[in-house]
Amino acid sequence: MAADPRTTTDFDAVIIGAGFAGLGMLRQLREELGMSIQVYETGSGVGGTWYWNRYPGARCDSESYVYCFSFSKELLQDWNWSGKYPEQPEILSYLNHVADRFDLRRNIQFDTRVTSAKFLEDTNRWLIETDQGDCVTARFLITGIGCISTGNIPDIPGLDSFEGDWHHTGSWPHEKVDFVGKRVAVIGTGSSGIQAIPVIAKQAKRLSVFQRTPQYSIPARHETVDRRFIEEDVKPNYDEIWEKARWSRSGFPVEFSQRSALDVTEEERLEIYETHWAKGGFGFLHGTFADIRTDIRANDTVAEFVRSKIREIVDDPGTAEKLVPMDHPYGSKRALIDTNYFETYNRWNVELVDIRRSPIREITPKGIRTGDEEFEFDIIVFATGYDAMTGSFLKMDIRGRNDLPLKEKWSEGPKTYLGLQVSGFPNMFMITGPGSPSVLCNMPVAIEQHIEWISEFIEFLDENGIETAEAGINYESAWVSHVNEVAEPTMFMLANSWYLGANIPGKPRVFMPYAGGLGTYREKCNEIADNGYEGFILGSGSRRRPVATSAREA
Ligand code: NAP
Repeated sequence: MAADPRTTTDFDAVIIGAGFAGLGMLRQLREELGMSIQVYETGSGVGGTWYWNRYPGARCDSESYVYCFSFSKELLQDWNWSGKYPEQPEILSYLNHVADRFDLRRNIQFDTRVTSAKFLEDTNRWLIETDQGDCVTARFLITGIGCISTGNIPDIPGLDSFEGDWHHTGSWPHEKVDFVGKRVAVIGTGSSGIQAIPVIAKQAKRLSVFQRTPQYSIPARHETVDRRFIEEDVKPNYDEIWEKARWSRSGFPVEFSQRSALDVTEEERLEIYETHWAKGGFGFLHGTFADIRTDIRANDTVAEFVRSKIREIVDDPGTAEKLVPMDHPYGSKRALIDTNYFETYNRWNVELVDIRRSPIREITPKGIRTGDEEFEFDIIVFATGYDAMTGSFLKMDIRGRNDLPLKEKWSEGPKTYLGLQVSGFPNMFMITGPGSPSVLCNMPVAIEQHIEWISEFIEFLDENGIETAEAGINYESAWVSHVNEVAEPTMFMLANSWYLGANIPGKPRVFMPYAGGLGTYREKCNEIADNGYEGFILGSGSRRRPVATSAREA
C-alpha cells in the first residue's frame, strides 16, 4: 500500500488511550528513549476507565497504596490516598496530577477517537486515522485502550421508547445523577452493580435490582486509610513492597496460602474462613486455601461458607435464596468485594427481581416488562458490563500485513504472543492485551511490566538497527495453546464470565487472560528478552527482511 498523501506528521509512536497504560507509556518512551509521541484519547481528559466510570460508589478493589505507578519514588512519597480502597474521584485526581507533574498533556490530543490503523508494508509505518480528521504515520502503534472499556448495553427491545433516563455505568454522565425520590432499576450485579446498588438504594425512592446470576461477594471492609500503616510500614518500605508485588501471582504484595482446604478439620476450616471474612478484601481469596482455585471439592467448602453468610445477612429467606449462587464455583467469575451489598436487600425500598426465572421481555416507555410483571421507573442503570479484552480493538479498523483486518485474524478469539503482539501486525504492541495476565491482577503493576518490557524491546531494536518486530506465527499459536492449558484446570472454566466472552452473544468462547500468574509471566517475558527476543521476527530496511532472530521457526 502506498503512503497516504494526506499524512503530515510521522511520529516514532502513536499511543491510543490516556489511562494508566497510555500515560505511563508516554512518559517512559518520551523521557527515557527520547521518542516523538502522539497520544489520542477519546475522552476530554486523562484517566481512561476512571474518566468514564463515575457511577455512584465507583472505587477500586486494589488497596490504594499499590494502586498507583511505581516509576517515581518521589511521587510515591508525596501522594496520599485517603481511603483504604481508592475512590474514583481520587484516582482521577491522581492521574491528573501525574499528567501535570510529568508534563504529559502536551503530547495528548483529547476528544479524538482512533478509527483506523493500517500497516504500510512499503514504508514499515502505521497509518493512523481519527474521527477528527487526523491522518498520521508512526513506526510503532501502541494500544493502551483498557481491557474493560467497551460497554455492553444488551439488545433489549424498546429501549428507544423509554421516557425516563438511562445510563451505563461505564459511560456515566459528568453531571450528578439525582436519584432522590426516583424509582430506579439497576440491571446487573457484577463489580459495578454491587458497588452502585448500596449507594443508589440510600437515595432512591424505590430500587429494583434485576439479577441474572447471583454472586459470591466478600466484605471489602472499606475505611479511611490507616495513616500509621502508610507512614511506618508502607512509605519507608516501598522498594520491597513493589518487588514483592511485581513477582507475586496477582500484583499484590501478599503471600498466597499453600494450605489445602481438605487437609484441615471442618472446625479449622471455618475458623480460617471466619478470620478472613472479618478482615475482608481479596485476602479471602488468596489467604485461605490454595486449592479453592483448582479443586472443586475444596471450592465447595468456600462456596458453602459464603452461601451461609448470605443467608445470615439477608433477613427475608426468599430474597436470600434468590441471592445465593448455586450454578458456578466461588472465584470462577471475577471475585467481588463489597460494602453492604447483601445488607442492602434488608432495606424497605429495595427489591430483587430474578430475571433468570422471569427474563426481561422489553423496555417500555414507562419501565421494564419481564415475563411476569411490568415495573415503572424514572431511571434505568445498566451495570451490564463490557465486551471485554477484544471489544475496544475490534471497534477500530486495525489492519496488518496484506491488509488483514484484526477482526478477521481474531474471528475465532484473540490470538497473540504474550498478549503483547499479534503475528502479521508488526510494531504493534498491546499494553495488557488478551493473553496477558492483566485483568487477573492489580492493574497498574501489570501495566508497568508491559511498559518496561516494550520500552526495553524498542531500545534493543534501535541499538541493533532493527526496524520491525513481529510475533512469529508458531510462537503465537504455542502461546494461545499455553494460555488455554493453564486456564483448563482452574475454576475459571466453570462459569459464564466475561473472561470467556460468555456475556456477549456470538462472541467466541475462549478464555482470554493468562491465568499462570504475573510473576511467572514476568519470568517468561524476561527469558524471551534474554534469548534475543525469541519468537519475534526482527526485520530491517524498507522491506521486511529478517536480520536477527533466535526464533528457530518463528
Ligand atoms: P460484569 O462483571 O460483566 O457484570 C455485568 C452484570 O450484568 C452481570 O450481573 C451480568 O449477568 C449482567 N448482565 C449482562 N448482560 C445482561 C443482560 N443481557 N440481561 C441481564 N443482565 C445482564 O460487569 P461489571 O460489573 O461492569 O464489571 C466488569 C469488570 O470491570 C469487573 O469484572 C472488574 O474486572 C472491573 N470492575 C472493577 C471494579 C472494582 O475494582 N471494584 C468495579 C467495576 C468494574 P451475568 O453474570 O449473568 O452475565
